[in-house]
Amino acid sequence: MTTAPRLLSTWFDGRSPRAQVCELSIEGQELVLTLVGGERRYPLRQVRWAERRSHGQRQSELPDGSLIQHADAGEWDAWRQASGQREAAVVGWMQSWRATLVAMVASVVFLGAAWTWGVPWLSQAVAQQVPRSLEARLGEQSMQQLDRLFLQPSALPAPQQQALRERFASTVERGYPEGDAPPWQLSFHQSKALGANAFALPGGHIVITDDLVKLLADQPDAINGVLAHELGHVHHRHGLDMVVRASLISALVGVVLGDASGFIATVPATLATQAYSRDAERESDAFAARLLHESGVSPSVMVVFFERIQQQEKQEDEAGDSAALPIAVSSHPDHAERIRFFREWQPD
Ligand SMILES: [Zn+2]
Repeated sequence: MTTAPRLLSTWFDGRSPRAQVCELSIEGQELVLTLVGGERRYPLRQVRWAERRSHGQRQSELPDGSLIQHADAGEWDAWRQASGQREAAVVGWMQSWRATLVAMVASVVFLGAAWTWGVPWLSQAVAQQVPRSLEARLGEQSMQQLDRLFLQPSALPAPQQQALRERFASTVERGYPEGDAPPWQLSFHQSKALGANAFALPGGHIVITDDLVKLLADQPDAINGVLAHELGHVHHRHGLDMVVRASLISALVGVVLGDASGFIATVPATLATQAYSRDAERESDAFAARLLHESGVSPSVMVVFFERIQQQEKQEDEAGDSAALPIAVSSHPDHAERIRFFREWQPD
């Protein structure tokens, strides 16, 4: 079989980095390597042939761990073709293309299923597993950033702040006589960006703006209702759920690897740009209604809050303003539905 096409190429024995000149030919079902020191033969089936890419060098692995490197891809392909290897190469390429397509379709189906069923379940499960200390850290960091971006110090007199804080504390105490309430800490802020608003962060930071306190100055029970709604988000860990959902992969990696810094870095941005889901809002409304009821206040006190917010939004729409923080309470949609909920709420 001396007529077989030959190709001058380079061979590495797989142990030393020294290249050796070799001559390649295909004889029958064998690849024949002719080296200075002698000849080596490999069954064609056991050779892992270079992938047929259009550019770059061709590298083929031999069953003994050695390899052939050929710098000129065109020359290599031409030699393979001339050696009667063209069919095999094309079939191999077709097969790998088909395998890639199948793998891609499978991945898309898997991701679709994971997104529809897996992610909500998993994010809830992960959110519930996040240790309190990490939750507090996430809340702290987010609070600092949101403070820088959206909040200014409150101009409300300290005694008024203290009175509202104590009023809410006694509501929570009556709702949780055994002292097992979710953690919370209330702060008052002015905010040009948020207007009359309130929001809660993981770990229990609750912020209410001066404008909202003023809007409900004659309705302290409604202020308590808003705060109770925010405490509902803390209790159900909605902020964490949202953050985990938004960055599920990095969160899992972070939690699994014990290095949560990448995850933590994304939290404030997520909390500043995403809104709670409708289900989360309903859960928090239900939480607020129950807490108000248990503290001896009718949940219908919330109706006035929604009515005034609605009225204010109308004015804001005319002025072209809007709340900059989607998790903030007045950004939640469906005022009519929520008014009905609080008006008609009955204890079970
Ligand atoms: Zn809410």
